[in-house]
Amino acid sequence: MTSRILHWADGAEFAGTSDRWADVTNPATGKVSGRLALADPDDAAQVIASAVQAQEAWAETSLARRTQVLFAFRELLNARRPELAQIITAEHGKVHSDSLGEIARGLEVVEFACGISHLLKGGHTEAASTGVDVHSKRVPLGVVGVISPFNFPAMVPMWFFPIAIAAGNSVVLKPSEKDPSASLWIAKLWKEAGLPDGVFNVLQGDKVAVDALLTSPDVASISFVGSTPIAEYVYRTASEHGKRVQALGGAKNHMLVLPDADLDLAADAAVSAGYGSAGERCMAISVLVAVDSIADDLVTRISERTRTLLIGDGAAGSEREADMGPLVTRAHRDRIAGLIGSGESAGAKLVIDGRSVSARGDEDGFWLGPTLFDHVSSEMEIYREEIFGPVLCVVRVPSYEAGVELINANAYGNGTAIFTNDGGAARRFEKDVEVGMIGVNVPVPVPVAYYSFGGWKRSLFGDTHAHGTEGVHFFTRGKVVTTRWIDPANRPAGGLDLGFP
Ligand code: NAD
Repeated sequence: MTSRILHWADGAEFAGTSDRWADVTNPATGKVSGRLALADPDDAAQVIASAVQAQEAWAETSLARRTQVLFAFRELLNARRPELAQIITAEHGKVHSDSLGEIARGLEVVEFACGISHLLKGGHTEAASTGVDVHSKRVPLGVVGVISPFNFPAMVPMWFFPIAIAAGNSVVLKPSEKDPSASLWIAKLWKEAGLPDGVFNVLQGDKVAVDALLTSPDVASISFVGSTPIAEYVYRTASEHGKRVQALGGAKNHMLVLPDADLDLAADAAVSAGYGSAGERCMAISVLVAVDSIADDLVTRISERTRTLLIGDGAAGSEREADMGPLVTRAHRDRIAGLIGSGESAGAKLVIDGRSVSARGDEDGFWLGPTLFDHVSSEMEIYREEIFGPVLCVVRVPSYEAGVELINANAYGNGTAIFTNDGGAARRFEKDVEVGMIGVNVPVPVPVAYYSFGGWKRSLFGDTHAHGTEGVHFFTRGKVVTTRWIDPANRPAGGLDLGFP
């Protein structure tokens, strides 16, 4: 059964007038499950107009009322997590528990945004000069655009819109065309929570929709998450159009294992972080950097664990949930299978080949099993490319120094981890490594909502990370007011003075 997946504007579904449509598939069956409206520029203009119309009144709504809506949204989302998880699994393919996990991390940001009254407090200085007080405030930007990738259809939009809305902005979300239904479910939830129509809008589509947001004079800022080439394009284009931009890009996350680490825990972590969500996480571990003396032992432990994984349809209801679901699309699966071939030809040792997977599920699903390469070197394509799939590459290094050098030479700087029981080495790593998010014996160090999420180098364009206080800063503009009230009992002398005050 296929459904029509539309835009959302003025608090209702909106079909638009474009005649461009795209298929949405269930990756576990390979079957088309929906037909997605792809916006043309006129549709985009209408959705943006809905956001413009609603924004001023929303910004003038009291903080108490705005916070009530945020709390209501939090309650509804919390109560209905399984419904949303089902939608995510059906279009993305990740297993049900993993879909619940991304909702939990998104919910954290909603909870953070519930404290917006505190977060928006300005400063006040009495008598900065005689009879002169100064105060600061932060005001909303207006209409903000959020453009999200396929791999977290609920969590990544939630990195941005709860804070943006709480701060008094209206939002146009452009979700990934691969798994767009979560966005509409969320739009309906906002309505139920009492958010006025037009404050949260969804624009479905591809590059045409993105370009409309990047160039519209009515859109004040762009928050983008996706691959590095598109992040760079978005950053450049939106900046040229005078917008504030944060554009988070791709990743190649390394996990360095030192000889004194607990190798069982390190192997557990490598398998969980490498193959969770079929490796389609921007914080997945894709490169395991093993110091020579323990490399053989570690690869053995990783391969033993990898062979126990169950690959299959991740929908809820099975007796034993699969560990890993399918890849998001057939094209993505085939691309990764091609990269596995390239690693083999380049001379890396293919310890486990995911191309010959036996999966529990429909034979037309986009299956690819976990793949393990050993003896990978930094000039190989499988090392240089962001594979974004269940492929773990082991690079062997002679020392800690060589491991850090490898990580720092990489073009990306999103996340990294060190596994060691040596506090001094971990402390040194924290200082030496040129990466935005670092784990010490934690393989996927996604910051909690009250800190900010973002990488370095080609993993982020712009200087502001997502959520936490940086998020509040991004979605507001500062004003500083200098005030002199005339007190008749202490009236200033007056008179002309052309000197700099
Ligand atoms: P993508 O770059 O293909 O798409 C992201 C968004 O950009 C989508 O909404 C898509 O419709 C739009 N888009 C695609 N091509 C475009 C074009 N030519 N012009 C304008 N817009 C375009 O990314 P994806 O495949 O959906 O997601 C996976 C990527 O996202 C990976 O590279 C992953 O590392 C990255 N990612 C990064 C983070 C992070 O925090 N740094 C988080 C999640 C995902």
